[in-house]
Amino acid sequence: MKEDFYEILGVSKNASESEIKKAYRKKAIEFHPDKNPGDEKAEEMFKKAAEAYEVLSDADKRAKYDRFGHQAFEGGGFGGGGMNMEDIFSQFGDIFGGAFGGAFGGGGFGGFGGSRSRVKGSNLRIRVKLNLEEIANGVEKKIKVKRKKVAQGTTYKTCSTCNGQGQVTRIQNTILGRMQTSAPCNVCGGQGQTIDKKPTNADAQGMIVNEETVSIKIPAGVVEGMQLKVSGKGNEAPGNGISGDLLVAIEEKKHPSLQREGDNLHHDLYISFSEAALGTSKEIDTVSGKVRIKIEPGVQSGKILRLRNKGIPSIDRYGQGDLLVHVNVWTPKTLNKEQKDFFTKMSEDDNFRPNPEKEEKSFFEKVKDMFS
Ligand SMILES: [Zn+2]
Repeated sequence: MKEDFYEILGVSKNASESEIKKAYRKKAIEFHPDKNPGDEKAEEMFKKAAEAYEVLSDADKRAKYDRFGHQAFEGGGFGGGGMNMEDIFSQFGDIFGGAFGGAFGGGGFGGFGGSRSRVKGSNLRIRVKLNLEEIANGVEKKIKVKRKKVAQGTTYKTCSTCNGQGQVTRIQNTILGRMQTSAPCNVCGGQGQTIDKKPTNADAQGMIVNEETVSIKIPAGVVEGMQLKVSGKGNEAPGNGISGDLLVAIEEKKHPSLQREGDNLHHDLYISFSEAALGTSKEIDTVSGKVRIKIEPGVQSGKILRLRNKGIPSIDRYGQGDLLVHVNVWTPKTLNKEQKDFFTKMSEDDNFRPNPEKEEKSFFEKVKDMFS
């Protein structure tokens, strides 16, 4: 069980924006890694507080959380693994104001006393093609990804230029007084480390490209163009940096007989004259297997049969779409002599004269209903 965000920050459920901010500021200072070097418990508390603040400080996310709890943010492959330090420190400008930015350079980070932000590996991007069944039910995909990794045998040493700080700090005397400025170290590129030893097949940073199978959990209801993030499955960073992310773009394969429209699915069903007159039953594809549907005798072309909840589940777990079966009565394009005679004879029959009932909805009314 995940802890309650309000409890983590020690505020009540109806705490105001400024109370939440104040509570988080207190926790962030109390558990800041610079104040608690090597204390894993403190680091964990620091991360938890940041995660809680990330949600509760955003009206939208907070409303979702109040409604759905932690579930609201656990969309399978969405990298629900919490926040990394980089994300956390990027929040600090907002919380602590300018005091920790500005002259210290690196956003809020440097303000606590010379720690440096860890270098992050670059993100990788892949595309995943899914069929409608996979989209409807959610799926776990195993994908081969070429990731940069620190080669076995590569060792790093502390950069002697910046003493591992990743930044070079200079004190300058200006007309405004003494000013401290810092810039990334150009020897180690801000990593605080340089190569000590590396195998011959590694690149200049001691990295090699490695093919790896990554398992990606794709939640039900994704749509074409959506991007999922798998945290930490991008390229590794050299030294003690943190890995980038794997960004997964969703593509949707065309289904042979179902068309998707949002969470609803549509199917065009063709039946013959005689089937329309006599009634029939037809087997159709759905995203959860085949189903047999009954067509009543006397069905009109254009009738829409709604199969409830046979569509796509909503990505925010807020219901499920329907499958709409559109009945089309197929008119033969040519007739032989015998058929011609039959229909000619029938055309004189009163029973064959169109006679829509009052309650029979027009095509436009049906379309209107479908979208409401
Ligand atoms: Zn350096």
